Parts: sequence; structure tokens; C-alpha cells
Amino acid sequence: MTPQTSAPEFIELLNYLKSKKNILPAKKDQATLLQERRLVLLVDLDHTILQTTYLNFEGDFEEGMFEFRCGRKSVTCKLRPHHKQFLESLSLKFELHVVTVAVKSYAKSVLKHLDPEGRFFGNRILTREDIPYDDKFAAMMMLFPNGYEHVVAIDDKRSVWGYMRNQYHIPKFRFFENLDYETFGSLSFKRKMKKPDDALLKAEKVLLEVHEKFFDFYDKNQTKSTAELFEEAKEKFEMVEVRNGTKKLKETTENTLNEDVDKGRTEEIELKPKRKAQRRLVEL
Ligand SMILES: [Mg+2]
Repeated sequence: MTPQTSAPEFIELLNYLKSKKNILPAKKDQATLLQERRLVLLVDLDHTILQTTYLNFEGDFEEGMFEFRCGRKSVTCKLRPHHKQFLESLSLKFELHVVTVAVKSYAKSVLKHLDPEGRFFGNRILTREDIPYDDKFAAMMMLFPNGYEHVVAIDDKRSVWGYMRNQYHIPKFRFFENLDYETFGSLSFKRKMKKPDDALLKAEKVLLEVHEKFFDFYDKNQTKSTAELFEEAKEKFEMVEVRNGTKKLKETTENTLNEDVDKGRTEEIELKPKRKAQRRLVEL
């Protein structure tokens, strides 16, 4: 049920949602949540908060890694760095739900490690079996049929949410990439070390900002949807990053010009206007 869904599909989905009403996880209604000064955060699992592989893992397990069985297969999982802080911090301000298109048995196995006591998600878990056509936007409508202005989602994919504006689009977590397959059909592989991943820390900042602003308006008896606030929060933090980046670049430029150190950087900066000019010529 993306914003572009046609009328017959919409009716079909509404019927589906009605049939699913009884299996929905217990959740608080919007008024109760707002009284508790909490919003709702829908959390994707794969590539957002963890990565798994069915291939054998060579080498020692490090922190955040574990194995579990899913059907006949053995699965190796790595939880994304800072997941604990992310969940601890945001669970104070948001009612957290898992919304994943993975199958239920897989999600439950993962959650045994991610949230063993059910402190963060409780039984608020929607999986492939519950989500019509893998459409997470429809899942959200199913959970919040009376409006989703207090809801945000975090996911590495935008299409499954119908490109809705209240989604934090997090970069894919890829721990098991650069798979080095061996010959003879062996499934073993080696992990290549990646630079530290702090995407969940950035997401935490933006989501807390949305929460704060939402209740600033709420306290003044005004309403502003999370979608609007989300755009502003993302812009604010991206601008801060750009500003810092610009400042850093400026300082580097001055240093390199004055001291004639790091010549490569100086040349790169000097080349930029030329490239722009060339592009303009091509366009003409
Ligand atoms: Mg995902």
C-alpha cells in the first residue's frame, strides 16, 4: 500500500488488514504514548541493525557475533556496532517495533541475542508472515490505521516503505562483504576488516532530535508530523557535517598553500573549478 497503490489493490489490502487485525501485537494507542512522551520507531533487522550469512565463517568470532540455526541451515550473525546504545537510548523515547520481511523463526532467533529479555521490542514483531506483499508501508498502516504522524521507521531500503518521508534511510551494514569464495564449491570465506561503522550513532542523534521537536510543538498544543520534523532534523545534522567538512577542507587548503605540504590535496582543490567549466562546456 504505497502512496501510489491503485484502487483495487487498496481494497484488497484493506480486506487483508482487517483479516490480520487479531494477530497484531499489543501496542499502546497514540494518546497513551503521547502522554508518556513517546513516539513509535519501526526497526528493520537485516543490514540495518545486523548482518547474517548462511556461509561458513573462517576465523575467530568477535564481539557481537553468534551462530544460530534456521531450519536446516546454520546462520552466522554480526550485530551492528553501537546497537546496544541505540536501543537503550531510543527505547526511552520511542515504542520500538521490529518490522522485517524475514520469516518469523529467523527474526525470533536473532532477537534471542539482540533483545534476550524482550526489554526493547517485547512482542511487537511483524515478520514476512504478517506483512502483505512485503510492503512495510502497509504494515505501518495496519499497525496505525488512525494515523502515523507519531511514527518513524529506520531501514536500509526505501522502496519497501513506499519512499515515505518519515523513514530514516540508514546506509547498509555490510560486515560480511568482500566474500572470498574458495574453489570446489566450498562455502568458506574470509571477512575483510572494515572501517568503524557509526551509522547507528548518527541515526540516534537525528531520531532524538525528531522526538524533542515533536514534543516542543505538542507542549504548545501544536502538531507537526514526524515526516516534517524528520526532514528538518536530517537537514540539520547533514548541514552540521557539511559545515564541519567545509571548515576542515578550508583549514587544510590554507595549510597546504602556506606550507606546501600535501600537494595532492592542493591540486585536487585547484582542479575543481576547471572540471566545472569543462562540464558547462559539454552541456552547452
Ligand atoms: Mg534491511
